[in-house]
Parts: sequence; C-alpha cells; structure tokens
Amino acid sequence: MQNGIWKQEDRQGGRFYSLCHHPRLQGVIHAFSTRRGGVSPPPFDSLNFSTSTGDLPARVQANREALLQSLDAGEACLHTLRQVHSTRVRRVQADDPITLPPPEGDALVTACPGHFLGVLTADCCPILIASPEERVVAAIHAGWKGSGDGIGPTCLDAMKEAGACHPERMLVLIGPTIGPCCYQVGEEVREAFVSRHPFSEAHFAVDPAGRPRTPRWKLDLPAFHRQLLVRCGIPEENIYTLSLCTRCHPQLFFSYRRDGAVTGRMLSLIGLA
Ligand SMILES: [Zn+2]
Repeated sequence: MQNGIWKQEDRQGGRFYSLCHHPRLQGVIHAFSTRRGGVSPPPFDSLNFSTSTGDLPARVQANREALLQSLDAGEACLHTLRQVHSTRVRRVQADDPITLPPPEGDALVTACPGHFLGVLTADCCPILIASPEERVVAAIHAGWKGSGDGIGPTCLDAMKEAGACHPERMLVLIGPTIGPCCYQVGEEVREAFVSRHPFSEAHFAVDPAGRPRTPRWKLDLPAFHRQLLVRCGIPEENIYTLSLCTRCHPQLFFSYRRDGAVTGRMLSLIGLA
C-alpha cells in the first residue's frame, strides 16, 4: 500500500527509505534504513546499527555516520533506547546528553531541533510520527507485546504533552516490518490483542500451517497500528505504510525470523531540522 510515494535514496547507496518529498515533512529529517551501503561484514552485512549481537562498535559507529551524512543531518545527536518491549515513552529535552548504555524504553518524543530519535528493528514494527506545525516528533519500536499493550496511543499522549499536538494534524510513517505473509503467531498472542482491542480480530488470519489443537495465526501488525491510530483521531490519509516485508526481502532488510538471533538491526530515525 502506498509504496509508490516512498523514495529509496539510491544516490546514497540505497541506505534508506523516506517520504522526503512530502510537503509537510520539509522540516522533518526522517529515514527507515535498509541493510545496504554499510561497512559491516556477514552476518551483519552491511548497514548494521546494533552492537548487541556481536558486531564491532567501530563499525556500527561508521554506519551511523554514513547514514547521518546521507541525510545531511550534520552534527545531530542520536538518542536510542535499550528496547524492552514495554510501553515506556521517554521525552528528550534540549540539554539531555547521550547516555551509554541508553535508557530503557520503547518510544522517544522530542520538541527540540537537532536531537534525533532512533529505534532499532529486525522484524518488529518501527513507527515514526510527526506533528510538523507544532514541531514535535516521535519514534516507536513496536513488537507484538508493546503493540498489544498500547504503545501507540501512549506515545500520542506524550506528544500532546510535549507540544499541544492534535492527532488530526499528525503524520504517521510505518516502516519495514514482518508482513502478514510471514508473521506467524500463536493463540496467546491473538488472545492478548483481542481481549484489549476487540477490533483487532480482523487483523488475524488463520495460518494454514496450523493444527486444529494448536491454532496458528498470521498477524497483520501494520494494519493493526493503522486502525488503532485512526481510532485515536489520526486521519487515515495521514498514515503512510512502507509495505515491504522484512522476511521476504533478504537483499533489503535484516530479519530475526529469517536469519536467527545473530543478524543486524535497521535504524529508523526522525528529528527536527
Ligand atoms: Zn513476508
């Protein structure tokens, strides 16, 4: 859906997808990285942004610099999180330093120019949100747990607090994630979603590989987020989905489910110019 409007920056080695031509995003630097155009060797080849699975910090740093350079982001500081599948949202203020290890949480919000917000994924759903006129941005790491627990709406509340944003004017970018073609989940996942969000039943399809006594499902996580955010007041036409499955595109993306635990991570980032 809507893949035609996404631009992959081949000029920069195909390192990222963005909506750089969107008229309302001109003051908002943003990107969903691919695995292309970095310096890391297999199994992290090549644009890997995580040191937690065995890649060397110096290579990850070089990859970060390459991406930020591709984005003409200059001296921006990049805030990340120790992601724990929670609904914890952290707000970045003007004088907040970069800390190592990064703080725990799964979403970042800021109203301060020059502070970039980044989340790491390899199948989980990265979501970037901008309220361009109020100058507030957010980045969310949404696996099934945080998604079902409501990290999306929790992050919208933090954005409203940070800058009097109204959902009607927000733009949402849903990045590369494991698609409904590949995202097999068990009954316990479906129960967790449907008990909290009855509407989400529509986003689970029976997996033909399942057995009658152990039902298996395929979850359409981007579609769930779209519907949840529309229910929060964001107009459907303001939600842009990059509908490329991470597991189905080994040349473009890392995938935990395809490659196992020892693989790279993509970075999704957003910041105010
Ligand atoms: Zn797939």
